[in-house]
Amino acid sequence: MIIDWTPLADLIETRDRFLVTTHVRPDGDALGSEVGMAGLLRQKGKDVRVVNVSHTPPRYDFLDPDGSLFEHFGTAVHPADLADREVALILDLSAWSQLGDMAEYVRSFPGPRVVIDHHLSQDDLGALFIKDTAAEATGILVMSAVAALGAALTREVATGLLTAIAMDTGWFRHTNTRPGTLRAVAELIEAGADIAAIYRDLFERNTLGRLRLMGETLSGLQTDMGGRVAYATISRADLERTGAIPQDSEDMVDFTVSLRGVEVGMLFIEQARGGVKVSLRSRNGLDCAQLAATLGGGGHRAAAGATLPGEMAENVDRVLRAVRQALDPATVAAQG
Ligand code: 5GP
Ligand code: MN
Repeated sequence: MIIDWTPLADLIETRDRFLVTTHVRPDGDALGSEVGMAGLLRQKGKDVRVVNVSHTPPRYDFLDPDGSLFEHFGTAVHPADLADREVALILDLSAWSQLGDMAEYVRSFPGPRVVIDHHLSQDDLGALFIKDTAAEATGILVMSAVAALGAALTREVATGLLTAIAMDTGWFRHTNTRPGTLRAVAELIEAGADIAAIYRDLFERNTLGRLRLMGETLSGLQTDMGGRVAYATISRADLERTGAIPQDSEDMVDFTVSLRGVEVGMLFIEQARGGVKVSLRSRNGLDCAQLAATLGGGGHRAAAGATLPGEMAENVDRVLRAVRQALDPATVAAQG
């Protein structure tokens, strides 16, 4: 999709102080896209603050080596500190719930809001939407902005964007990986992104806690519907016992769909503030975004999520029923 970047160019032309933010529990696409967007804006002489509602997982600290880029909303930064911001750029989300505790602030943001995103689900964020649901990552969209606005792919920007694209394509394995994805990556490598170093930073700096949590999660893998469905749970006690932190569960849902014959995989994670986060993945074309929407969440066709109130067991039950229904409506109806 050819994106018209003129509205963003106009804002850059006329405003100076930008706020960049992204979703709760930020992933590589969220944070890498922020690095790219911050680089673009700074090259244009803009004053940029990147303020996120969640802390940066240690896994991504290489994107902000001196710790000066990502600021935390609610502890380090409060709304009053952002009173001078003229434009809010919201990356990699289109739902209020994905802003968590920053939603209220963004709702009352007085200046223009711009959403740059690739998710299917969409709330009316009162924003200018620059959206391509066919894009493999928000990072691809930011890369197109860098080119359209005549900015340079510095090494720093290229590193952020390669991380973004790599993580949202499952390191170039998922079906959203296309020839154009790899062409973009080639360009980022030419611009100075060190793909081997990025891989090591992302995948070869596990903590013992994360590896132990992985082991426990695998040990507890369950199947349903004769092996068409696989799921696992992570409780607060699991985190404590293994010495893992909440962010350590990133990607672990991938194990569920790595089992032979599995069409739908789920990972349920008990949340510190109560409730359960579920991650959904499909390998048979089942629309996870639609399924997640019925649970109050959203996402993409093959990968989506939702946060559910209540206890683990009841939520596993509830989501399993919804998945069975989606996979095999006839049989489920016959069984009542
Ligand atoms: P994950 O399961 O890895 O957290 O998320 C998979 C995809 O679904 C990501 O693109 C993520 O942004 C989206 N997603 C996860 N949870 C939610 C949610 O509660 N609401 C919405 N709208 N999207 C979600
Ligand atoms: Mn994304």
